[in-house]
Amino acid sequence: MKKIIVHREKCRGCRRCEMACSWKSGGLTNPRLAGISIWKTENEGKDLPVFNQICLDQFCGKEHPDKLGSGIPLCVSTCLFGALTVEEEECHE
Ligand code: SF4
Ligand code: SF4
Repeated sequence: MKKIIVHREKCRGCRRCEMACSWKSGGLTNPRLAGISIWKTENEGKDLPVFNQICLDQFCGKEHPDKLGSGIPLCVSTCLFGALTVEEEECHE
C-alpha cells in the first residue's frame, strides 16, 4: 500500500492541494470539502499540511486525469513544491 508523506518544510501554503481535492469531491473549490487542510503553526507562522485520518489509512481514489491508475492521490500530484509525496509502505508480516 502507498503511504502519503508530508515534507512540511517544503510547503508554501499555496493551497492547490485543498482546491484540487475539493473540486474533485463536489465541483467546488471549498477547502471544507477537502481531505487536507493547511494550518499555520502558532509560534512560527509556517504552513503545515494536515490530512484527515481516512486519507492516511486508505487510498481515496481521487487521481489526476493524466495519472489514472497510478495510485497517487490528486493532492499529491497537484503539489508543485514536493511537500507531499507517496512511498510504498513496507509489509512486515
Ligand atoms: S488523499 Fe485524496 S481525499 Fe485526501 S486530501 Fe488527498 S486527494 Fe483529497
Ligand atoms: S502541500 Fe503543496 S499544494 Fe498544498 S499548500 Fe503546501 S505547497 Fe501548496
